[in-house]
Amino acid sequence: MTTLLVTGGAGFIGCNFVRVALERTDARVVVLDKLTYAGSLENLRDVSDDARFQFVRADIADRTAVEQVFRDHTPTAVLNFAAESHVDRSIDGPDAFIHTNVVGTFVLLEVARHHVARLGASDRDRFRFLHVSTDEVYGSLGATGLFREDTPYAPNSPYSASKAGADHLVRAYFHTYGLATLTTNCSNNYGPYHFPEKMIPLMILNALDGERLPIYGDGRNVRDWLYVEDHCEGILAALERGRPGEKYNLGGNNERTNLEIVDRICSEIEKLVPAAGNEALRAKGIDAYTQLKTFVEDRPGHDRRYAIDARKARRELGWEPRHDLDSGLARTVEWFVANRDWCEAVQRGN
Ligand code: NAD
Repeated sequence: MTTLLVTGGAGFIGCNFVRVALERTDARVVVLDKLTYAGSLENLRDVSDDARFQFVRADIADRTAVEQVFRDHTPTAVLNFAAESHVDRSIDGPDAFIHTNVVGTFVLLEVARHHVARLGASDRDRFRFLHVSTDEVYGSLGATGLFREDTPYAPNSPYSASKAGADHLVRAYFHTYGLATLTTNCSNNYGPYHFPEKMIPLMILNALDGERLPIYGDGRNVRDWLYVEDHCEGILAALERGRPGEKYNLGGNNERTNLEIVDRICSEIEKLVPAAGNEALRAKGIDAYTQLKTFVEDRPGHDRRYAIDARKARRELGWEPRHDLDSGLARTVEWFVANRDWCEAVQRGN
């Protein structure tokens, strides 16, 4: 029996991965999550009755609790999604980022290596520790070039520095202890269940409510957007076909400036909820969503451009994203328009 221990499974990407894993495999899925402001059982409501699903509330940095979960569930793989993930929050208060992203990953690695040492040879060979990381560890790009797996690390925010620290520990546990680790570094995700304070959901919800759409600096920072379901399929491919000790970059091949993203969101919303019929805009005398765009002071240390070279994942894992930005954004806007009650529930719970 395959048992996937999914840390951070009540968060945005983790909950999407839980659905993909339950749908595409016959594995048991055990979610371990602390339920911080970013995690919610609302994100797992539709899978909570599945006999192959279980939830445990715990902190990945709490060694006693993590050991108990390993004893209770004997995972055949760990997928580490748990993290403090919001760059702006890491600037305001980095402590939680070091606690969860660095110390938490260290605790998981320690418990996993002791767990593996107790397994028989075939279970040991089968065990995997997959660490989910970010392209932000590579720093910022100029107008050209792409992040490759061998691009030197140059993190610029407390968030990306804490993720870089975790990635190095994961690498070291492969080289020092022979733990079968894999690391995936992905670009910016978007899609259903994205926490409302992140850029894309924030823009969608503010536009629907007739609130301003705050754009950092000149709006020309570039990100490579990856639809969350595509990302989850890439993680599953890395788990099933990745070579231990390797890292894989997962990108969407969708480089856009923040301004382009906001404009696309405005035109997708216009199709579903025309501005002319939206009372929130009419009350303010506004007749187009784009009029809500407002430039605000730039984020300190704001990386200019991220872009991923995902050829290794295509070559070795046979993985490619299935959504381009237009189809992914259309699905995302549709989901948020149809799930205002979810947005209110997770914001109320925060
Ligand atoms: P998220 O903030 O939506 O979810 C994080 C989850 O981890 C939450 O459910 C939270 O409760 C849980 N958590 C936090 N601290 C914990 C702790 N100490 N113990 C147990 N659980 C804890 O994050 P996300 O956007 O889903 O990101 C998931 C992973 O993917 C993260 O590791 C992040 O660094 C990485 N990543 C995200 C993106 C993106 O665009 N969202 C891009 C690249 C990489």
